[in-house]
Amino acid sequence: MSTFTCAHHDVPKDWCLLLKTDCVPGRPGCVLRGKSVFLVSAEERIREKEQARRERELAIAPPPVRRRP
Ligand code: SF4
Repeated sequence: MSTFTCAHHDVPKDWCLLLKTDCVPGRPGCVLRGKSVFLVSAEERIREKEQARRERELAIAPPPVRRRP
């Protein structure tokens, strides 16, 4: 097990300043791509982050406006 730091990582936002998207170490374009081995593939972690983002957005979205018939 190891930890890492990355010059492109905006830690509070967990955001990649290089790729301008969520930091997912090993994702396409990441400086670690092809240089590190991950237990869970980058593609799987990208899917999980996107799913979590959709769920957060749904949780904060206002309810739909209902019109009277
Ligand atoms: S995705 Fe890669 S390059 Fe971007 S911040 Fe994360 S570790 Fe660094």
